[in-house]
Amino acid sequence: MSAYVCPVCDFVYDERRGAPREGFPAGTPWSAVPDDWTCPDCGVREKIDFEPQGGGSAEAGE
Ligand SMILES: [Zn+2]
Repeated sequence: MSAYVCPVCDFVYDERRGAPREGFPAGTPWSAVPDDWTCPDCGVREKIDFEPQGGGSAEAGE
């Protein structure tokens, strides 16, 4: 499970928590979120603009 963050407002979509307000129950994978879904907080960024939480690096440490 991963989390993705909005580059504008820092809203975090956590796959473990989902976004019940948006209709995505806990456990909904990021891949199941539509590409045209917009950030519920700022409304100006779409799914494709979100970045993997943790700076975008792979799971391997620096
Ligand atoms: Zn946002």
